[in-house]
Parts: sequence; C-alpha cells; structure tokens
Amino acid sequence: MTTDTHTRGAGALVHLYRDLVDCRRCPGMQGPPVHGQAVISPVMMVGQAPGTREILQGIPFCWTAGKTLFRWFESIGIDEPTFRSRALMSAVCRCFPGKAPKGGDRVPDAAEVERCSGWWRTEVELAQPRLIIPVGKLAIVQFMASKRLNDVVGAQWSYRSPSGLEADLIPLPHPSGASTWFKMEPGKTLLARALALIDAHSAWQEIRASSPMEQTSRAGRIGAA
Ligand code: SF4
Repeated sequence: MTTDTHTRGAGALVHLYRDLVDCRRCPGMQGPPVHGQAVISPVMMVGQAPGTREILQGIPFCWTAGKTLFRWFESIGIDEPTFRSRALMSAVCRCFPGKAPKGGDRVPDAAEVERCSGWWRTEVELAQPRLIIPVGKLAIVQFMASKRLNDVVGAQWSYRSPSGLEADLIPLPHPSGASTWFKMEPGKTLLARALALIDAHSAWQEIRASSPMEQTSRAGRIGAA
C-alpha cells in the first residue's frame, strides 16, 4: 500500500467511524457502537461484540477478556498500547447484545450479525490487512465454515473477500473468563500454536517493530553484542 493510499484509507476510516457511532439499526442492541482507533494496519483483529464496560468506556476489549487477550499478545512481543495504536480492532457486532435469559451475554441473532457486517467488511476493504485474527466462534464463522475451535485454532487459513482481497487468517479462542477451552488440553496447545503462527507472520512482525518491548529487547541485544 502506498503512503497516499494509506492516508486516504485512514481518512475514510475516520468518516466510517463517524457514521458507525450514529448507527441505531438494531432495536435489540444497546449502544452506542464501539470501535477501535482509525488505523490502517496490516493486522486486523475481529472480536465478537462489546460488553457493558466496553459500551460505557467506548473502548473495545477494555475489561477482563481484554486483560487475557493482551497478555497473549504481550507474550509474542506486542504490548497493549502498541496493539491498540497499530492494529485495526474490529468486531462482528459493535453494540452490546444484552444478557441471555440463562446468564452470560446474548449471542447476536443472524439479522443483527448481517446488519453489522457492513462495518467490518468496509474496514477490510479500507485497511487491506495481510493478517486477520478472528477472536471467538462468532467471529470465526464469519470467515470460515467450521466453528469447532479444535478444528480451526492452531492453524493458518486463507481468506478472500467478495471483492477479491486476500489475507491470512489465524483464529483465536475468545479470551473470556467464562471459557475453559483454552485452559485445558487440547485448547492450551492449540492456542500456543496459534500464537506462534501470529508471532511468525510478517504483518505481526511489521507492527511489532514499533513496540517498546521490541525496541528494549533490540537495544539489549545490541548492548550485549
Ligand atoms: S449492532 Fe451494528 S448494525 Fe446494529 S445498531 Fe449496533 S452498530 Fe448498528
């Protein structure tokens, strides 16, 4: 992507987010809609839907699931502020779906997912990421047929958008405290494999180069040489 295209894309994202925050198309959803920073990045993460804390603060992954997610990312060299400012943080739905009758957050219905998909699909076209990281089953099924974590986490897949844009896909489980999948086998091993694949991806390495963690470790390596 050229510098001009990059600048135009960032401007278009800012406009997109101005429209997004006004979106009230889903009567069963609780807003205001949440989005990340308007950053054109080779890495795009797609979460499921914000929780109440995210809606209150207007920041994706700002509470307990975010703590786990950013701990995973820190283990492969990118701290939370660097990720937030250098990666595009998207989601399947941008509003809080409310609570399910049996507890936990309600899973958005098919009509809500479809209505909200225009936002993340436009983000894909504007940012043209080389690596997409869908987080959690609802995000994973937007990109691939299988939704069994055991079948898809721990491997790299290919994605082709309806307009023909191609990207690598490396799915992650949802880091919610309610999930036990990534705390037990085979989830533990598959999560470690997925993080190793992300770590080795050129798009991840590109944004990691600006991370303070990477610069400190590079300075240490130079000092030791
Ligand atoms: S869930 Fe998406 S489409 Fe529905 S109101 Fe919120 S932003 Fe709009």
